[in-house]
Amino acid sequence: MRLRNVPGADAYLTAHPLVIKNETRYRGTWKETFQNPENPIHIEIGMGKGQFLLTLAKENPSINYIGIERYSSVLLRALERFDNDEEYKDVNNIRFICMDATNLPEVFAVGEIDKIYLNFSDPWPKARHAKRRLTSKQFFERYDKILAFDGVVEFKTDNRELFDFSLEQVELAGWVLLAKTYDLHNDPTLSRGNVMTEYEEKFSGQGHPIHKLIAMRQ
Ligand code: SAM
Repeated sequence: MRLRNVPGADAYLTAHPLVIKNETRYRGTWKETFQNPENPIHIEIGMGKGQFLLTLAKENPSINYIGIERYSSVLLRALERFDNDEEYKDVNNIRFICMDATNLPEVFAVGEIDKIYLNFSDPWPKARHAKRRLTSKQFFERYDKILAFDGVVEFKTDNRELFDFSLEQVELAGWVLLAKTYDLHNDPTLSRGNVMTEYEEKFSGQGHPIHKLIAMRQ
């Protein structure tokens, strides 16, 4: 993901009605920011250019979605796609936040989120950076503070080392592993209804198998 500063990105986000600003203000009241507040909320952390979450929002009008991305220059690409592509013109069940996921518990209250998607998260290969990985035990502790009691995390990656690390962290965090596969696209059960991300298209196109796990807090 290119992280260069894009002129105008911050202004575009500031003016956009679906980009939530001062996000800590909404802690405990996120459901009310949607037209259908009775629906569950699913979030994607590190949504990148947005293909995955925009597709889910279009396909599942009875779920509310929040896309989280740390860099305004990257979120801008997702917003441009959402704003300019005719296929999203009737989609009203999505919001966006430009923030670092480290601050999730300051933004969402306990039980506010029903599902978290992590797709092709940055691997942070150096051991001393392990706690920055979005599937580290430290991040599962943050997810514990915002998920509903049977809330789940779904994680996809092509990075085998990160995947094996993540499986260990699920156990260390005391979560239940509901499902795993080392070859998502050839898994008859887990591949059903799979929505591809930009990175997934790129890496599977290069012949890399895609790994996926689903973990539930208990
Ligand atoms: N999910 C997309 C995909 O699969 O195509 C993008 C994957 S890209 C490798 C990872 C994205 O996560 C980047 O856009 C990065 O800026 C974002 N990201 C990484 N750490 C983050 C954090 N702590 N909080 C929010 N976003 C983060």
